[in-house]
Amino acid sequence: MSERNTTFVKTEGEQIPVVADCDVVVVGAGPAGHAAAVSAARNGASVTLLERYHHLGGMASGGMVLVLDDMVTEDNEVITTGLVSEFVERLEKQDGAVYPPTEDCQTNWEMWQKWSRWGCIDFHQSTMPQPIIHAVAFDPDAWKRVSLDMVREADINLRTHSWFSDVMREGGKITGVIAQTKLGRQAIRAKYVVDATGDLDVGVAAGAEYTTGQFIVTTVFRIANVDTDKAVAFEFAEPEAYKKLDRQARRVIGGAWGMWWLKTPLPGVVWCNCPHMPGYDGLSVEDMVKAEYEGRERMMNLLAFAKENIPGFENAVMLGAAEQMGVRQTRMLQGEYVVNKDDIKSKRHFADSVCRGRDYYTPYRALLPKGIDNLIVAGRHYSVESDAQKMSREIPPCQAQGEAAGIAVSLALKEDKALRDVDAKAIQIQMRAQGADPGDVPDAKALVENTVAAE
Ligand SMILES: Cc1cc2nc3c(=O)[nH]c(=O)nc-3n(C[C@H](O)[C@H](O)[C@H](O)COP(=O)(O)OP(=O)(O)OC[C@H]3O[C@@H](n4cnc5c(N)ncnc54)[C@H](O)[C@@H]3O)c2cc1C
Repeated sequence: MSERNTTFVKTEGEQIPVVADCDVVVVGAGPAGHAAAVSAARNGASVTLLERYHHLGGMASGGMVLVLDDMVTEDNEVITTGLVSEFVERLEKQDGAVYPPTEDCQTNWEMWQKWSRWGCIDFHQSTMPQPIIHAVAFDPDAWKRVSLDMVREADINLRTHSWFSDVMREGGKITGVIAQTKLGRQAIRAKYVVDATGDLDVGVAAGAEYTTGQFIVTTVFRIANVDTDKAVAFEFAEPEAYKKLDRQARRVIGGAWGMWWLKTPLPGVVWCNCPHMPGYDGLSVEDMVKAEYEGRERMMNLLAFAKENIPGFENAVMLGAAEQMGVRQTRMLQGEYVVNKDDIKSKRHFADSVCRGRDYYTPYRALLPKGIDNLIVAGRHYSVESDAQKMSREIPPCQAQGEAAGIAVSLALKEDKALRDVDAKAIQIQMRAQGADPGDVPDAKALVENTVAAE
């Protein structure tokens, strides 16, 4: 765990230039923030999108997390549609997405052999072979390109290289945000703010209630020059020998799930969702430095082992680690409603559901902080308990949250009201109009009798 400082310095009062004046500022251009910005702009708001890095996409690009999961119900019905579907179509046009056609979504060994190394499996099922489902393997650079295209087309004022540092307030109201840049601090005035930082940076600065949690962190990396056909052929021709080697490989990396290497749309390039390193605080500089050293050492050890032992990896080379440390969980809002594990597991339906992921529903109240009128949250730091967040933080559901949050701010803007007073029904209607599934109609397997009514 990190050591928090106990000595402090004070800075003098400063004059901060206002670089943008807009309806909505979205902080963080990961999957959730990008969707929120595009959705708000397409609904008529003037939007500024603030991002600390040079690229858009957060964990989906800089974090090199390369399979879109949790897009379907357990019956393989696609429920993250709307902007998510548009994004996938755009990735495909750039040869940046691979997923099984509907006829391949079966449960048998033939399809397992064809699709499991793409990550298109229902890993929530423990019986083998796991069902092949609609999940999408994608290329991180294509993600960045598609994100930029959509931002440009929606006429969003993009400000990268801008690290959110504080909120501005007049009376009790947030009037915008301040970003740290190479040219010093800059102010962005806005009527509404979307916190899509993944870590609740804006919410914390604005005084929102939150909780903290932790999960493994991972330095995701990619290896090139792999003969994936040979590796897969060996896996199926000699399953026992393969399993033995695979167990050894996972010991070498020191923490990985079963499928530690997966194919990507780039021939011969695989991504490795490992090593999994527990005990690190994703907010702490000291911890992130230690994790960087540790992760890089472990990945080089694995590469050496794979080259020497695993058929198909003989000529493999390290393509590189992700630009961003793979942080899964830090701070989570404790807002108007806090989603818990039972809500997710029981598929609890909420009357004010505005988006979905897998078989769960996200109520509008879980995006709203208590006591702050013009701030909304979208992404992995939404209002949720720690163990429930681990089950509801995948990329497409975060995009869906962003799409709903973008609609919410545009409605609040039009009606000049607090976000909490926006009618969830109106968000649902607009989500449907955009081709998205807000979860207004409960699935046959949803827990409806205990529905928590919207206030
Ligand atoms: C190792 C790992 C493996 C995963 N595997 C999968 C998977 O296979 N499939 C899947 O669907 N999901 C997976 N996930 C989960 C998924 O990647 C994240 O939960 C998802 O990306 C969250 O989206 P987000 O937009 O909320 O946050 P993020 O993706 O974290 O984006 C937040 C954005 O905000 C920016 N930002 C943060 N703070 C500031 C600031 N102060 N100022 C300006 N900008 C800021 C960041 O740079 C980033 O662009 C994985 C996650 C990890 C870490």
